[in-house]
Amino acid sequence: MTAKIAIVTGGNRGLGLETARQLAQQGLQVVLTSRDPAKAEAALAHLGAQSANITPYPLDVTQESSIQALSHFVLERFGRVDVLVNNAGIFPDSKSEWTAFKTPLDILRLAMETNTYAPFRLCQVFIPIMQENGYGRVVNVSSGMGQLSEMNGGVPGYRLSKTALNAVTRLFADEVKGSNVLINSVCPGWVRTDMGGPEADREVEQGADTIVWLATLPDNGPSGGFFRDRHEIAW
Ligand code: NDP
Repeated sequence: MTAKIAIVTGGNRGLGLETARQLAQQGLQVVLTSRDPAKAEAALAHLGAQSANITPYPLDVTQESSIQALSHFVLERFGRVDVLVNNAGIFPDSKSEWTAFKTPLDILRLAMETNTYAPFRLCQVFIPIMQENGYGRVVNVSSGMGQLSEMNGGVPGYRLSKTALNAVTRLFADEVKGSNVLINSVCPGWVRTDMGGPEADREVEQGADTIVWLATLPDNGPSGGFFRDRHEIAW
């Protein structure tokens, strides 16, 4: 059987790199994208033999020309796209005292550009390609901090961008309902990465588990949901 083709954004470190590693381990052909090609090369060198099924390609998720170049490359090289993991993300609310009253709008704009609009645009570009082939899995890497049911103030840029990302998941899932393109959001938990910090309670292996599970769902799998530890959670 031909290997499935998976695109992972922000693949040069943290959860993106681990997701790429686990997908490749399962036999998928992974396009590991990174806005800095040198970082992708270094990450692949670190993986050693485990990088055999992984192809690096540059992608800044906020740049339309970069998204178009990726689309052309993947279609020319592989002829299709089966999996999209929208993992690239930023946490621009650097000052913990920034409440909703004090946060500058520019912080919200920054967060939305990378964490929400970019995944939205990538869905617009790659889901139609998946539909043509009758198979697709999209995983939007969100966060429990975007859960409206848990929202209790602070870091509004990041929180709003992830709440809106969950809405992006619902919008696209509803529009392709009934097809074999399944689109879900995931909270990886609090994970020890550059973003999560050293105090986080999870290793990347555990954080990436539900991302990979959603990226490889069977045809009767869920769509339009929000998951943590392979269980559906509240929005
Ligand atoms: P890291 O900060 O370790 O990695 C973030 C990745 O996103 C990097 O590869 C970074 O690239 C990339 N990135 C940022 N902006 C862009 C851009 N414009 N174009 C392309 N790539 C970009 O974070 P994590 O691995 O922890 O996070 C991955 C995802 O998981 C994020 O969406 C995050 O919000 C989410 N998440 C993480 C949690 C945690 O505890 N760690 C908890 C909940 C959710 P570069 O190296 O060039 O900066």
